[in-house]
Amino acid sequence: MDFSLTDEQRDLRDTARAFITKEVMPLEPELLARERRGESGLPHDELRALQARARDFGFWGLGTPAAFGGADLPTLTQALIWTEVGRSFVPFMFGGETDVILYKANEEQQAEYLLPALEGTRASCFAVTEPDAGSDLTAIRMRARRDGDDWVLNGEKTFITRGAEADFAIVIAVTDPELGYKGGFTAFIVDRAMGWESSVIDTMGPARPISMSFDDVRVPARNVLGEVGQGFPLAMEWIGRGRWRIPAVAIGAAERMLTMAIEYAGQRRTFGTTIGEHQMIQAMIADSEVELESARWLVLLAAWTVDQGQDPRHHASMAKLSGATMANHIADRVMQIHGGMGYTRELPIERWYREVRLWRIFEGTDEIQRRAIAKNLLSGRRRVGGHLA
Ligand SMILES: Cc1cc2nc3c(=O)[nH]c(=O)nc-3n(C[C@H](O)[C@H](O)[C@H](O)COP(=O)(O)OP(=O)(O)OC[C@H]3O[C@@H](n4cnc5c(N)ncnc54)[C@H](O)[C@@H]3O)c2cc1C
Repeated sequence: MDFSLTDEQRDLRDTARAFITKEVMPLEPELLARERRGESGLPHDELRALQARARDFGFWGLGTPAAFGGADLPTLTQALIWTEVGRSFVPFMFGGETDVILYKANEEQQAEYLLPALEGTRASCFAVTEPDAGSDLTAIRMRARRDGDDWVLNGEKTFITRGAEADFAIVIAVTDPELGYKGGFTAFIVDRAMGWESSVIDTMGPARPISMSFDDVRVPARNVLGEVGQGFPLAMEWIGRGRWRIPAVAIGAAERMLTMAIEYAGQRRTFGTTIGEHQMIQAMIADSEVELESARWLVLLAAWTVDQGQDPRHHASMAKLSGATMANHIADRVMQIHGGMGYTRELPIERWYREVRLWRIFEGTDEIQRRAIAKNLLSGRRRVGGHLA
């Protein structure tokens, strides 16, 4: 068993790290100032300019299939790069990527939606959650009824990330209530111009998702994504990707926070010595390191499982649960180690503290990950220690 990186993995990781350090981290003070004024921390044009700079040295479409001009990197390499992205709280992502299920678009839809989304000229969002259906997505009620060459959509979606900027939404709706999620849900590509209404939801963190209201919104039948009845597996595919990407980002954030805490513990003095000499501070640092490394290897295992063509869901649930809880523990401990300063807005710890809380909630809560892991074991689909069999 070899836990070392290949030369290519190391090169890509180091290049991503250099870019994040030189181009993205310097934006942090301005981002904090903007967010505190209630503005967008990283306006779309600035994000695109950064993405264009990264493209100059080949960082473009990291996970995008080669057929669409992407690098199609192995998932494990992508996870290493997302960890570097997570080192900064600037909401940066490398360009040339979009919602994974848009790759299911037919040729006409590719030209109209996929390629502009990859170029960043049209923004998308993904809408499955409803006011009465979050963890239990089989309970969605948004209805799509066929009417001539159109489908007519009625209902509500909520908590939709990037919805405020989106030019179009990928919306999961019920096309056959009898079949339910087993063949009765369908994915639609719905332009904002087709008439959905939205309003922004204020949150405790930087996220500004929207709620969406559909009142007889007519969507041409050619805007069905994939096949009619395929909406539930498409939704699961979209969500599945976040289950290794969110904890990969969490590792980067936790590494940076823990490094801050270690530096501070070496400088700050109480009772005649640095706080790093106190065993209670040492315990917080040690526990953080152990949780961080545990999460890292679960994320890399989940990513490796994807690359092996195996079903990654069990490992991805463990990675998401582990990474999200780890980041919350570390944000809390790092704030504690900084004492009163940690609680101020002079340091960015409070911002991370507010942001990382979301990671335990979206794209499958902690409880939903635990439910999936336990059900896999109880049903015999997975065996304890089974991946080394
Ligand atoms: C900022 C933000 C951005 C989001 N972005 C998107 C997006 O882009 N697109 C999208 O479609 N959705 C998005 N979501 C929705 C998100 O995925 C849901 O909020 C999440 O899945 C939880 O659903 P819920 O809020 O309805 O909670 P509920 O499902 O009502 O759960 C409430 C509580 O009950 C627990 N629970 C539920 N079922 C069980 C069970 N079987 N056993 C034990 N405990 C259980 C949950 O873990 C939770 O603690 C976003 C949410 C937020 C907050």
